[in-house]
Amino acid sequence: MANLNLDNEKDNTYDVIVIGSGMSGGWAAKEFAEKGLRTLVIERGREVKHNVNYPTTNLNPWEFKHRGVISQKLRDENPIASRCYVFNEDAEHFVSKDKEHPYVQEKPFDWIKGYQTGGKSLLWARQTQRWSQYDFDGPGRDGFAVEWPIGYRDLAPWYSYVEKFVGIAGNYDGLDILPDGEFLPGMGLNCIEEHFKSSVEKNYSGRHVISGRCAHITEYRDIFAKQGRATCQYRNLCQRGCPFGGYFSSNSSTLPWAMNTGNLTMIHHSVVHSIIYDDKKQKAKGVRVIDSLNKEDKEYYASIIFVNAGALNTNLILLNSTSGRFPQGLGNDNGLLGKFIAFHNYRATVSAEYDGYTDKHTTGREPTTSYLPRFRNVKKQETDFLRGYAAGFGARRQIITDYNGYGEELKENLLNPKYGVWQMRSHMMGETIPKESNQVKLDLSKTDDWGIPLLSIDVDYDENDEKMVRDYHEQFTEMFEKAGFSNIKTHDSKQAPGLDIHEMGGVRMGKDPKTSLLNKWNQMHACKNVYVTDGACMTSTSTQNPSLTYMALTARACDHAIKESKV
Ligand SMILES: Cc1cc2nc3c(=O)[nH]c(=O)nc-3n(C[C@H](O)[C@H](O)[C@H](O)COP(=O)(O)OP(=O)(O)OC[C@H]3O[C@@H](n4cnc5c(N)ncnc54)[C@H](O)[C@@H]3O)c2cc1C
Ligand code: SF4
Repeated sequence: MANLNLDNEKDNTYDVIVIGSGMSGGWAAKEFAEKGLRTLVIERGREVKHNVNYPTTNLNPWEFKHRGVISQKLRDENPIASRCYVFNEDAEHFVSKDKEHPYVQEKPFDWIKGYQTGGKSLLWARQTQRWSQYDFDGPGRDGFAVEWPIGYRDLAPWYSYVEKFVGIAGNYDGLDILPDGEFLPGMGLNCIEEHFKSSVEKNYSGRHVISGRCAHITEYRDIFAKQGRATCQYRNLCQRGCPFGGYFSSNSSTLPWAMNTGNLTMIHHSVVHSIIYDDKKQKAKGVRVIDSLNKEDKEYYASIIFVNAGALNTNLILLNSTSGRFPQGLGNDNGLLGKFIAFHNYRATVSAEYDGYTDKHTTGREPTTSYLPRFRNVKKQETDFLRGYAAGFGARRQIITDYNGYGEELKENLLNPKYGVWQMRSHMMGETIPKESNQVKLDLSKTDDWGIPLLSIDVDYDENDEKMVRDYHEQFTEMFEKAGFSNIKTHDSKQAPGLDIHEMGGVRMGKDPKTSLLNKWNQMHACKNVYVTDGACMTSTSTQNPSLTYMALTARACDHAIKESKV
């Protein structure tokens, strides 16, 4: 008679387990499955199949029950999720609701989550910039956090590798502070953005205005056709899921690619509780999972484990993975797991108007913004605050619609709006400094529906961030004035950390196991067969949108894990 436990263990054993199917987990799935490893992706949310489960993707505005706006009831039930700008009637089904996974806020923190196949890759704004060597140098040069164990040279080939598959639109700008990538044609600037660019570049050395680099296919390539993806149609409805696969998501790209190899198994409604450590073999042997529908416990086993649950959930899983060897959480010999969390400061905006170019206006839609790369403290310390900020911005003509009249006259008025002045709005993307006091830990007195302790988040701004907001307001006011703009208004939303949706750290990379959790290959110093390649691994945040870097780090770490497993 067969030993049922052994059979069960054999059935549940894979070469690799990937926890989470979002932006970084999707890349791990692709890399491992493509290289022939039997790969299990474990996803806590429901299944969202590309093009099958995008319920609003082709709806017209009048086909929405509330014309695109969420109901007051839904807003009241979700004070956190509804602060996110994509939480509208067309995409709220891809944003996790507040009661689905509670957490403890030691200080206000808006934790935005997307629990489903593809994670937040369905919802992202697709802005993608490489880091430069100056970004990697930051912590070492300025003496905060720890030094990065890698530099631009280590990651550059992996940026290229990822970009060719993802499809990144951008111009070759030739800036050492923001290296060029493997670009498809960029989306360009409109006349007023061009005007601003020439003024900024004339008046300031080291400041540049460029077309936003974004994960949209703007030109045919065989590799995209092989993924079943077509060129972007400029619908600007991306957060609904794109029927053309015009923008990159795990759902449209890496996961179906991995599935086509025949080496990928994906399970949904499966919440990873913890990683199982084998004290005898001194390595992780698998994961403990709770079925979110029937609350049954299961175990899955593999010799390589990639943790890609999204930065804060990755911290939670590792903190909850206690054993005789690791009583404070997996790999946490130095007690630093969950500490040095950082994020991006998106609090500040500046808007302005330009009275000119009245013979021009924009038509159609553009699914990206323009970009001003970071210029403060890039190569040396110049201000009374550390690090700096980049800015995204866009301009369009004010539209004035006359709602007067009846019948034909009203129709005429509605169909022929008048154009007013040009309006430009810029938003800041500031680097925050990772600090030990900005941390997450488990609150053992409270558990979620699956008996897992809640994550307690204690993260806040500091005086450095306040100074940076003031500087951004002053600098953009000055740049707008020099470019002839008027009616310049500064605003500080005071939004809580988290709403930037760029939370990072807690399981940082570093050179020294005494001060970091991961080595230069994203491998846990103290448990070599566990890798972390989502935002949790980030030693510092710089100012670039982070996901391209997570994807490049993931592809690089997979390559290392595969090579090491063959030794
Ligand atoms: C509105 C919006 C705009 C954004 N714009 C940009 C942008 O322009 N550029 C940019 O670079 N980034 C942007 N981001 C951020 C970007 O989406 C994230 O950086 C990226 O998705 C992170 O990838 P990830 O793999 O770490 O996590 P996710 O994509 O969040 O995936 C994590 C996955 O893990 C699953 N999971 C979590 N816990 C568990 C568990 N215990 N067990 C099993 N599965 C689990 C989740 O359900 C999820 O599917 C934006 C995000 C949003 C929401
Ligand atoms: S803008 Fe492009 S990527 Fe976005 S929904 Fe439209 S076609 Fe798809």
